[in-house]
Amino acid sequence: MSDAKPLALLGLTLEELRAVVERFGQPSYRARQLFDALYGQRVQSAEQISTLPLEFRRSLGASEFSLGGPRIERKFVSSDGTVRYLMAFADGQSVETVWMPEGDGGETGDGSEAGAPPRGWDRATVCVSSQVGCAVDCRFCLTALLGVKRNLTAGEMVGQVSAVLNDQHVSPPEDRVNLVFMGMGEPFLNYESFMKAVLLLIEGVGIPASRMTVSTAGIVPRIYDFGAEPVRPKLAISLNAPNDELRAQLMPLNRKWNLEKLMMAAREFPLRNREKLTFEYVLLDQVNDSEENARELAELLQGVRAKVNLIALNPGPGISFATPAEERVERFQSILTAARVPAFVRRPRGRDIYAACGQLKRTLELAEPG
Ligand code: SF4
Repeated sequence: MSDAKPLALLGLTLEELRAVVERFGQPSYRARQLFDALYGQRVQSAEQISTLPLEFRRSLGASEFSLGGPRIERKFVSSDGTVRYLMAFADGQSVETVWMPEGDGGETGDGSEAGAPPRGWDRATVCVSSQVGCAVDCRFCLTALLGVKRNLTAGEMVGQVSAVLNDQHVSPPEDRVNLVFMGMGEPFLNYESFMKAVLLLIEGVGIPASRMTVSTAGIVPRIYDFGAEPVRPKLAISLNAPNDELRAQLMPLNRKWNLEKLMMAAREFPLRNREKLTFEYVLLDQVNDSEENARELAELLQGVRAKVNLIALNPGPGISFATPAEERVERFQSILTAARVPAFVRRPRGRDIYAACGQLKRTLELAEPG
């Protein structure tokens, strides 16, 4: 049996597709047709690419090339409209991708076209995974318990977005879709594939960079690289503690890149007009959520054009922290606000289906017993 893997078309740039069509003796303009079909129309098989001659479609379908997108293996729908997808790849590995609709979309209940799904939202966010598992080992995160199994390719990241958009019958840029690279994995430990995916999503799928955010746990050298990119999403830094001692306990990577190094990278990050950095702070009861911690955090962020997203811990099995009471969260927020640091409390999405931040592992546990 041959163990040669099929070559995935999804994830190839226009230039790389040119080389493919030439191998089939096709003129190079076919590469653009293939690119538009893969990313713009999000076709699911070579036969669907009606702009290509039938003969080329057939030889493509019979060749070593495959489209290469993930398969939706399982799907969980929350009472708040959030959908958590388990996406399976050809090698049997899987990740989770989350769809989060927001707003009411002016839904009337009877205003949709015949046959069209009712539209109960006016913007939506897709949370994309960048690795199978994660190596960063944040102590409050379920994904960390998996370790890292492998990086995803650019095509596998784009494929998650395409599969969700197809399933939800949504088409950017007409439909307002935001992307956050905050699913499983640390995107900056898979930097090249992540950036390649970003460009394909912009140029091919039609989602502008201004609607994308990447979150890093603090891979400092990549923050500098990212700041130098001519086209890039917005940056969020997962902070979670206002001093090195506490941060190193919660996020062991702080021993390599401590707060001094991280904050220097944050201060030097070339922000655009009106752009702000986002700092994410998961509040853990009696661990990092005291008034003193809030004051220290406000001090740390002085002079940085930033906002803070506060997330009360989403508890899970194997995680030894508790969720703080609402009053503690509010008090923490008010100390930041009083120190002129904009702070927002992020509501957990899809908690009933374990789709909330730090919980993207539940389905894997179910799907991969033992
Ligand atoms: S919080 Fe993010 S970076 Fe940290 S272990 Fe979880 S997935 Fe990795």
